[in-house]
This record gives sequence, C-alpha cells and structure tokens, in this order.
Amino acid sequence: MIAIAIDGPAGAGKSTIARAIAREMSFIYVDTGALYRAIGLYMIKNRMDDDELIVSSLNKIKVDLKFIDKEQKIFLCEREVSGEIRTPEVSMMASRVSAILAVREFLLDLQRGLAEKNNVIMDGRDIGTVILPDADVKIFLTASLEKRTDRRYKEMLEKGLNVTYDGILNDIKKRDYDDSHRKVAPLKLATDAVVVDTSEYNLEESINLVLDVIKKKLS
Ligand code: C5P
Repeated sequence: MIAIAIDGPAGAGKSTIARAIAREMSFIYVDTGALYRAIGLYMIKNRMDDDELIVSSLNKIKVDLKFIDKEQKIFLCEREVSGEIRTPEVSMMASRVSAILAVREFLLDLQRGLAEKNNVIMDGRDIGTVILPDADVKIFLTASLEKRTDRRYKEMLEKGLNVTYDGILNDIKKRDYDDSHRKVAPLKLATDAVVVDTSEYNLEESINLVLDVIKKKLS
C-alpha cells in the first residue's frame, strides 16, 4: 500500500488539495482532523469541559469513518456529523481535546488501520511524525497566516456562518500555537518532509506543486 502524509497548520489548504489529489490518483483521502472534531462535538453536545471527564467518556464514544464513492463521511455514535463538525466552535474544541494523550491513543488504530488496507493520502498534524512515520511521501503544507485566514474566512462565509475576519484570525492563531506547543504529538516538521508553501499560489498551482513532489518521490 502507498501512504502519502500531509501535515500543516490550520487553513493551509490541506483538505482541498489532498481531496483533489486523491481523486486524481484513485486513493482514499483521510481527513484526520474530522476525528478530533467529532470528539469535540461530543464534548460540546454533552456540555463537558473537564479533561478527566473527557477521558472517562471515551468508552461511550463511537467514531467511524466510512467512504462513500471514496468520499469520507464521519459518524459519531452511528449518526453522520460530516457537516456539523465544520464550525469555529467545534474547531476550537477539537484542538482542545487533541492535546489529551488518551484521545490521541483512542484514534490511533483507526488511522493506521485505514493506511494498512488502502492507498491513502492522509492529512492532519502528526501523520508524518507519529501516525505513519514510514509514509512513502511526507509533505508539510503551509501558507502565511494572512492567506490562511483569508481562505478560512471565505469558506465560512460561503457556508453562511456568522463569523468575523478577526474572530477567524484569532482562532487560527490560537490553534496554531496550541497545536505546535502541546506535549503529545505536536505539529512539527518531520525530518524527511518536503515543505510546500502555497501563499503565492492559487488552488490549481498548489495542487500541481504537491503532485510534482509526490510524483518525484514515488518514481
Ligand atoms: O485539520 P482540522 O483543522 O480539521 O483539525 C482540527 C483540530 O484537530 C486541529 O486544530 C488539531 O488540534 C487537531 N488535529 C490533531 N491531529 C491531527 C488532525 C487534527 O491534533 N492529525
């Protein structure tokens, strides 16, 4: 099986680019952020705000990824929540729960299992460093804070969410800081990853840049 790992900060374009490449290469695209978001959503729905409570509740939580026409759908306790997890509130809660070791361990086998059985392009924060350290290709996708905020802000407006530019900017800054400074599996550059900065490129150009890296590594 072939595994392509894409890590990077929030709003770098990981999911859009990875989805397009997965389609082109007939791989499945695994968006691991959705897993942390699903746990975050559970916490919000159950009004939990305590790390110990979160850990003791993990045995009640069922998170599944299903691939329908190769498109990932996420289920929380048998209910599809693919749309519901895409709000700023859930983003912040996902970042919070993702710093808890027990949560990361809870989600580890699911991620590795998918890569054992499928050709995958998997994105997240610790894919090349922790989840798939032997991935065939590792890419660290990034862009300036300003570009990442612009893209995320437009995406949220298109979805009709009531957000402000400054709110999104502050959320991204906080998530980047927390994700990079946590003790367990922080966002960092794997030694063998190729850095792709998409600040100056549009979507099509960025996809081509990443595809070039993949083709070179796999040839
Ligand atoms: O990628 P996305 O923005 O959907 O991820 C939501 C949050 O989940 C991130 O801010 C990060 O805290 C966490 N996450 C993680 N490890 C991953 C994927 C996401 O810690 N592999």
